[in-house]
Amino acid sequence: MAVDPQLAIAMLKELRTLTGDENGAQRLAWTATWLKAREWFQGRVEELASEYGTIEHHYDAAGNSWTTLRGQTEKALLLGSHLDSVPNGGWLDGCLGVISAYAVIHHLAEQYNGRPPVTIRLVDWADEEGARFGRSLFGSSAFAGTHSISADRGRTDSNGIRLEDALRECGINIDGIGDAQKERANAAAYLELHIEQGPVLEKMSMPLAAVLGTKGVERHAITFYGQEAHSGSTPMGQRRDALAAASKLALEIRNIAGKHQDAVCTMGSVKTFPGIVTAVVGRCETTLDQRDIDAAVLAAMFAEAQSRARQFAAEEGCTVEWSGIWNIEPVHFHPHLIALAEQAVIETAGASHRMPSGPLHDAAEVSRAGIPTVMLFVQSLQGISHNKIEDTLEQHLALAVTALDKLTAKTIAWIQH
Ligand SMILES: [Zn+2]
Repeated sequence: MAVDPQLAIAMLKELRTLTGDENGAQRLAWTATWLKAREWFQGRVEELASEYGTIEHHYDAAGNSWTTLRGQTEKALLLGSHLDSVPNGGWLDGCLGVISAYAVIHHLAEQYNGRPPVTIRLVDWADEEGARFGRSLFGSSAFAGTHSISADRGRTDSNGIRLEDALRECGINIDGIGDAQKERANAAAYLELHIEQGPVLEKMSMPLAAVLGTKGVERHAITFYGQEAHSGSTPMGQRRDALAAASKLALEIRNIAGKHQDAVCTMGSVKTFPGIVTAVVGRCETTLDQRDIDAAVLAAMFAEAQSRARQFAAEEGCTVEWSGIWNIEPVHFHPHLIALAEQAVIETAGASHRMPSGPLHDAAEVSRAGIPTVMLFVQSLQGISHNKIEDTLEQHLALAVTALDKLTAKTIAWIQH
C-alpha cells in the first residue's frame, strides 16, 4: 500500500472551507478560528488513534500540538509545519506540511500495523507566522530554547491586547514555554514540506525542490525624527521632513540588496506623525527586513542600511534611531538529509532543484536546536503566498505528499542504522 495524496488534498479542502472566508484563510494564531482548525485536526488524529493504540496526542507548554506514533524504538523522526495563517492568507501555507505529515503517519501506521521501526511525531507549531504580535516562529523557538520571553511578553496586537494575555486565554503561561524543550528528547531528524511561496520553481517548470536552508534575517524598526511644522508657512528649504529622509532610505535599500545575488531588503511599513494633510512630518516610523543565506552578506547589508539612514537623516535635518525587532542567523540544513530529499524528489518527479528559502520556517529553529533537518518545497503558482489567491496545481500537491512519504522512508532507514 502507498501513501494516499488524495486524503491530504481532501483534508486541505475541508480545512479551507472550515476556517476560510471570501478573503482567504483566517487561522490567525491565538484566535478562535485557529483553535477551531486545531480542534478539527485533533479530531482527525483521534480517528486514527481509535484504530491504532500506538497513537497519542498532546499539547506542549508553548502550545505546539504533538501527535506521536510509537515505534519499535524511542528514537523519533519529527514531521511538521504550522496550521496558523496570516489574516486573509492562502489555503496551503503551513497546513500543507501538517496535513501531508498526517497522510504519511496514516500510511506508516497501516504499513507497520501501528508500530513503525522508529517513533514518528507530527508537530503543528504554534504561531509560526507571528502575524498578530510580530513574533514569528513562537512555538518552534520555545522548542529550540531560543525563545525570548522578556522581549515578547509585552508585545501587543493592533487592538492593544498583550501577547502574554492572548496566550493565557489559550491556556499557555508565557513563563513556562521553555518546558517545550522537553519535546526534543529522542528527536533524530525533522522533515518539513512547504509551498515555495516564490516564483522560482514555476519559472523552471519544476514541481519540487530540496531546500538548502533558510536565509538569515535582520528585522528592525527605524524612526526618523524631524520637526512638525505648518504646511503653508514653512518654506521648502527650512523643513526637517522625517518622511523625506525615510523615503530616501526606501529607495536606497534596492541598491543595497542589488549588490548581492539572492539578497532581499524590504521596507514594509510606514507611519507618519502627526499624519495630517496640513503638517510637515515630524516623525516617521518605518521597518526594514533584510535577508540572505550568507551571514557576512547579511551583516554588510545591515551596516550599509544604518550608515545610509544616518546620511539621509543628516541631509534632511533629521535624526534617526534603530531598534531591533527580531533577527535570526542563516541556517544550513543537514547535508545528508538534503541528499535524501533530492533523491526522494527525483524518484517522485524525475528531476530536482536545490534552493535556499527566503521565507522563514519552523525548520530553521529545529535545525538550530541541533536536530538534523531538511525541507521540501512544492511549486507555488505565480509565486504568490500570504494571499487568498495562493495556489498549487493539484497534481503537484499529490507529488509533494508522495515525495514527503519517500523522504520519510529514507530518513527512517538513515536513523536506524
Ligand atoms: Zn508557512
